[in-house]
Amino acid sequence: MSSSPVMLITGASSGIGEATARVFGRQGYRLALAARRLPRLEALAGEIQAQGGQALPVAADVANFQEIERLVGAVLDHFGQIDLLFNNAGFGRLDWLDNLHPLDDIEAQLRVNLLGTIWTTRLVLPHMIARRKGHIINMSSMAGLIATPTYTIYAASKFAVRGFTEALRREVSIYGIRVSGIYPGGVSTEFSQHTGVHQKSGLTTPSALRLSAEDVAQAVLSLARRPRRSLILPAPMKVAVWLNALFPALVDWMIERRFTRVERGL
Ligand code: NDP
Repeated sequence: MSSSPVMLITGASSGIGEATARVFGRQGYRLALAARRLPRLEALAGEIQAQGGQALPVAADVANFQEIERLVGAVLDHFGQIDLLFNNAGFGRLDWLDNLHPLDDIEAQLRVNLLGTIWTTRLVLPHMIARRKGHIINMSSMAGLIATPTYTIYAASKFAVRGFTEALRREVSIYGIRVSGIYPGGVSTEFSQHTGVHQKSGLTTPSALRLSAEDVAQAVLSLARRPRRSLILPAPMKVAVWLNALFPALVDWMIERRFTRVERGL
């Protein structure tokens, strides 16, 4: 019977989740890979298995509680334990609030980014409490620390993930369960294919600060090795977080002048 730790990754079919699966596969973790696109999960699992690792692909839509129930059940049936949960599935539909569809954009983002994270945690947690150990890493974002125009719902979901993460850590530490939040800036992934962004201002993450999915996967590994309350990356973005906290009126003014007026054409 193998004793290597078991990690459940949601959103493992592309981007950060996929890169994280490869990194943890190389570290000898047994992996449960979840997302909606099963063929991509199967291909990734096959690649990990070909390198001598163990990976279980499971199709699941985290916007649906019953599908998460099936997912967690399948992982526990197969591996018998979950040591590390990486709540990573998510997407952003970035537009003015008045353009966002109430259900397809607003409800959908909250369901996947927030409820998906909460529901998956809710289902895995009793198992971790019973074992008196475990680690939950929640994917927030720089948008969970700094809110900007066209990110209303995405920021709401990621601020909420931060609140959930902070409260949960204080709830479960007595059971030996660790809870970490990760806050990356811009990452080059398929994320940008789902945002619907057509910007005129050209204000995006400068290329020097843009992360790769592998960078974030390595940061997740560092959290797994040394659980921490929060990890902001890349490190220079901490300056923006401090600026936003210390001088919010200045940040309001800069964003309105450099972004909102240009984009709205006013
Ligand atoms: P990708 O679009 O490459 O990956 C998103 C993953 O989430 C895919 O595997 C997708 O799989 C999965 N997913 C989306 N909706 C669902 C759903 N309903 N049920 C299950 N899985 C779902 O983007 P990233 O890798 O960049 O995003 C991963 C996380 O990182 C997200 O939470 C995102 O908000 C966060 N993030 C991204 C940043 C960036 O700049 N890219 C910056 C900071 C945070 P499938 O479609 O197969 O279901």
